[in-house]
Amino acid sequence: MLMIDEVKIGFEIHEQLATRTKLFCKCSTDYRNAEPNTNVCEICTGQPGAKPMAVNKEALEAAITIALMLGCEIKREVIFLRKHYDYPDLPNGYQRTSTPIGVNGELAGVRIWEVHLEEDPGKYDPITGRVDYNRCGVPLIEIVTAPDIKSPEQAREFLKELVKIFDYSNKTRKEGGTMRVDVNISIANQARVEIKNINSIKGVYKALKYEIMRQKNLLKRGIKIRRETRAFIEEQMITKPMRLKEYAEDYRYIPDPDVLPIKITDEMLEKIKRNLPETPMEKEKKLMEKYGLPKEVARVIASEYELAKVYEEVARHVDAKFAAYWIKDELKRVLEYNDLTFAQSGIKIEHLIELLKMIKNEEITVKVGKKIIEMMIGNSKSPREIAKEMGLLNVISDEETVKKVVLEVINENKKAVQDYLSGKKEAINYLVGQVMKKTKGRVKPQIVIKYLNKFLNT
Ligand SMILES: [Zn+2]
Repeated sequence: MLMIDEVKIGFEIHEQLATRTKLFCKCSTDYRNAEPNTNVCEICTGQPGAKPMAVNKEALEAAITIALMLGCEIKREVIFLRKHYDYPDLPNGYQRTSTPIGVNGELAGVRIWEVHLEEDPGKYDPITGRVDYNRCGVPLIEIVTAPDIKSPEQAREFLKELVKIFDYSNKTRKEGGTMRVDVNISIANQARVEIKNINSIKGVYKALKYEIMRQKNLLKRGIKIRRETRAFIEEQMITKPMRLKEYAEDYRYIPDPDVLPIKITDEMLEKIKRNLPETPMEKEKKLMEKYGLPKEVARVIASEYELAKVYEEVARHVDAKFAAYWIKDELKRVLEYNDLTFAQSGIKIEHLIELLKMIKNEEITVKVGKKIIEMMIGNSKSPREIAKEMGLLNVISDEETVKKVVLEVINENKKAVQDYLSGKKEAINYLVGQVMKKTKGRVKPQIVIKYLNKFLNT
């Protein structure tokens, strides 16, 4: 009897490191804003006789930082290997990849087997036959996990946690879209199938869903799973065979004689450890302990490095719990709706602090606050200026004015008043809404309800 529910999933994840220059030469890594083949030299285009420079120290330190954040032990001697394959995006005919820099880490219950440093290949367009080598030689971190993941859902959660580590490390590209994931999956201890080059968490989830279904269907029909490499075709949400049986030996790994072995000294390691960024888990714990936030709230705020940073700054000036809910619910809502990060939103921290103080001091209502925060995107005006201009400043605290508006609403809405008096108590919500409309939300609902009750019940 085959245990077809026994699923084992492991990953090889590649992400670009945010260094200024490439791994083995001084060319710029900024290929996004450059014309094709302008950030290149004889080294990164593999000209005959060109020798690599010493390994980019910034890239090495970035890889060590991330490996430490993943709880890895750091190897003290690292060499580079040549991984051979033939494709037009790789001018040398081999890709340089390091021996493990970190080993035996753990994240979200998944063992991290190895962390490597690697160089990115160029970009090849098989339709035009053109190759752009600007990306060739950009440093990558490669993370290899044990096959500890048991479902597409767990795979998705793990990758989200890993992206948070990247985010907190400040050592990877912030633009997004540079992560590439190779997935390996086996069911019921059958042969392992690899799915190459998926570039989003959503893509990984969909590819796994499809692949599990495909393999289970084969097993049910008594067909053995063969070892193979497949590609994920996102538009059709299916996987397709790529090449047959690609074993590690095919790459003919050999030590690169042009790159000297790297020694990671005590001094270097101590320096990195001293400056090691907090992990998202540490931040979450800190938010709970220091500011007394509930776990769910702390988790949402700690889920993004930038959001947590904004929060901690705001909490120095405004009630910490009040600020937490505003940032978790309202600020996050507005950023997500506009698909912006806080930095991209143009919202100034001091403006956010001012807005929260105005709400807290009841200079504006919560409803007005929600409207103003939406208008703060890309706005150089302060919330007070915005509120003033729109006539939204100051809650109407003068009860005579409130009374007057309540009476007006009662006179203008006979039907709702009748409904209320005949027992439909929820009709009062409509009347409250009308008062809010007339006053542009500048009255406290409790006061409105107080007077509505008073007038309707006499
Ligand atoms: Zn170069």
